[in-house]
Amino acid sequence: MDAENPQVSDAIRIVDVLAHPLSQTLPKPTVTSWGVYSQVSIVLVEIRTDAGIIGVGETLARFSPRAYVELIETSLKPRLVGQDARNIGGLWQSMRRSLSGRAGGMLIEAIAGVDIALWDILGKATGQPIAKLLGGTGRDRIDVYAAAVNWVDDAEADRELERYIGEGFPRIKVKMSNPVRDACRRIERLRKRAGDDIDLCVDANWAYTLDEAVEVGRALAANGYFWFEEPLPPENEQGYEELRKRCDVPLAAGESNFTTDQAQRLVANRTLSILQPDVARAGGISETRRMADYAGVHGVSYAPHIGMSGILCETASVHLAAALPNFRVMECECDMSPFKRDLADLAPGCVRQKNGTLDVPTGPGLGIEIDWDAVRRLRIQ
Ligand SMILES: [Mg+2]
Repeated sequence: MDAENPQVSDAIRIVDVLAHPLSQTLPKPTVTSWGVYSQVSIVLVEIRTDAGIIGVGETLARFSPRAYVELIETSLKPRLVGQDARNIGGLWQSMRRSLSGRAGGMLIEAIAGVDIALWDILGKATGQPIAKLLGGTGRDRIDVYAAAVNWVDDAEADRELERYIGEGFPRIKVKMSNPVRDACRRIERLRKRAGDDIDLCVDANWAYTLDEAVEVGRALAANGYFWFEEPLPPENEQGYEELRKRCDVPLAAGESNFTTDQAQRLVANRTLSILQPDVARAGGISETRRMADYAGVHGVSYAPHIGMSGILCETASVHLAAALPNFRVMECECDMSPFKRDLADLAPGCVRQKNGTLDVPTGPGLGIEIDWDAVRRLRIQ
């Protein structure tokens, strides 16, 4: 032991890793080009240490959450127990080696939950919020946009738009799908209803062929939308490059990427203007920071994806947003689902969305307190 600096020399040994599969019914279904989501699952990762510190993280596990539990308990836990929780980079590499092929898929999502929990432990051990550990930029609030106006009929879309404007959001995302003629009509209609002072963007969730995306993209550019998100399937990188040349709207994507190398091509040639990794998918805080930094080097903005995830994903994203210089704007799910409303208490004084901003928690680690009764209640039996 180093008597002068015990905090640095003392290891904080991991004694247990628990994975809690949770499920919630959304207060209002999310309607996208993929279909209707009314039930969503995640896995909450709990890491216990010999110092009594407990770290928590979240794995994006929309489907088959029990499979993630198996992966965490059988492949990752044996590589973690007995190790120093502060050796986050080394543990990440060790976990990654439990897959001999290219990095991606459920393993990286499982690692994401562990990685967030390790950063939470590091923050609690040092008494620092994660944003400060990441370098910090002095932001204490971050800009968010309302997500989202669903792909529903015109009257309901109008109501959702007006509700978000009424809640003070200056930036609003609209879900878009087929047919293209309806999409182009909706783009113009919502612009007229919102007026020119509200910023609008669109998420298509891979709805289009290249030719369809060109048509929709031109309508978006003509109506001053600030981005066109995932118009094409993520594998169609050549399609994204072609689309960028054929319409003027900025392209956004990245929630479907697992690691930095998957974002490399479209960031390096600046096809994308905005990169949107999801911290609960893209290997946690460690890999998401790497991905956002890579984007920053190429003049591409970072805009965290949250989707229907829980409060741990949202809070980890807030810390990244507060710390990374190329942060642009973060997604904010407007309906407070049980994963956001019940799972944790925000730190005292931390205000939820106000005029399109969120507070950055100032407590150690993630800066939130998990409600373990809610975990038990939401747990899949
Ligand atoms: Mg999206």
